[in-house]
Amino acid sequence: MNTKDFYINNFGISASSCDLGEKAMEMSRDAFMQAEKTAEFNQMKVLKAFMNNNISEQHFMTTTGYGYDDLGRDTLDKVYAEVFGAEAALVRQTIVNGTHAIASCLFGVLRPGDTLVAVTGRPYDTLEEVIGIRGENNGSLKEFGVKYKEVPLKDNKPDYEGIRAAIDDSVKAVAIQRSRGYAWRESFSVDEIGKIIKCVKDIRSDIICIVDNCYGEFVEEREPTQVGADLIVGSLIKNPGGGLAKTGGYIAGTKKCIEQVSYRVTCPGIGAECGATLGENRYMYQGFFMAPHIVCQAVKAAIYCGCIFSLMGFDIMPGVDEKRTDIIQAVKFENKENLVAFCQGIQSGSPIDSFVVPMPWDMPGYENEVIMAAGAFVQGSSIEISADGPIREPFVSYYQGGLTFESAKVAILKAADKVIGERNDG
Ligand SMILES: *Cc1c(COP(=O)(O)O)cnc(C)c1O
Repeated sequence: MNTKDFYINNFGISASSCDLGEKAMEMSRDAFMQAEKTAEFNQMKVLKAFMNNNISEQHFMTTTGYGYDDLGRDTLDKVYAEVFGAEAALVRQTIVNGTHAIASCLFGVLRPGDTLVAVTGRPYDTLEEVIGIRGENNGSLKEFGVKYKEVPLKDNKPDYEGIRAAIDDSVKAVAIQRSRGYAWRESFSVDEIGKIIKCVKDIRSDIICIVDNCYGEFVEEREPTQVGADLIVGSLIKNPGGGLAKTGGYIAGTKKCIEQVSYRVTCPGIGAECGATLGENRYMYQGFFMAPHIVCQAVKAAIYCGCIFSLMGFDIMPGVDEKRTDIIQAVKFENKENLVAFCQGIQSGSPIDSFVVPMPWDMPGYENEVIMAAGAFVQGSSIEISADGPIREPFVSYYQGGLTFESAKVAILKAADKVIGERNDG
């Protein structure tokens, strides 16, 4: 049976969507080659770090209780630091998600009276309560006397003049977000982030530059720590967990900043010295080892998704041949119905919970209703196939992940079918 018949007979995908899929494969060829080259380079970096740190069976042993002298934990910190070109790192399953990792950085380095400046516009939705833009009496930075300023993007680009104007003597740290999050804007390349950091450090070199690196790891050959970031932060159920880490987050950066942050991740005096790993080390290592390849699968899925929906006439970001710096493909639908249809289609082509129909809901930490498609082995994992979007204008869905490109293709074709159906009905 040829593949097209297989798609049609087994997944109920229409012949016309299959043809669209074939066209998309053609269109994607150059972008795929680029993604594979990046993966090869990054895989070598990771492999070399494993060799340099003599990783062996003993690193997979478990600790309980305090977790003193957990060799696997301490060495994984070194492996991450080496791969990301940083002096030090903290990789912990006790970091519950990306928001927690970022919050730990902010609370770790900022003190009452200091100012934090978000230099790439409004940060990711879940950080609003951490900073204190939203919510009250919740222990936010604001409640602890940390001031906050924001430099909006200008034509969706960093506003360098605005950044220079915002930085006064009280500024202790700036926050930079690499990925678009839930905003219809370009994600910022490592080069661009380097420019932002230089702009900040030219004013005062001791300003701490913190980069929300979520979704960015291994999409380029360098990470923001290699262009001057003092701290980079991410989630292990996104790129660097490689689909195998069951939970956790990482923070990498300068020795001094990492030490300060370690007192927040645990508490003053304890820092990085405690934390039982409960047998998870093997997955964290293996996931990091797999990550360059898995990220490549996700990037290919994003490219393919972008092609299909642009062929269908929707606005996409980034464009098919634009340089990528994260695993996200944004697709702009003209209404709520198409956005919901897209997410439901993705869900129906996922390996897990394919029978579930996602609906918009009020998710904790988010201001608008959000619809989320997630067909993952690890709950909420978005290096696995997933799509989400807040139910607000301009009705953009953010597609990401796919442990294997081949399976992601099915989900994307099903989503295309579902949107075509919705368009015809509506
Ligand atoms: C995922 C993400 C976060 C953190 O989200 P969690 O769900 O808490 O892991 C922060 N910033 C960006 C840009 C993200 O994509």
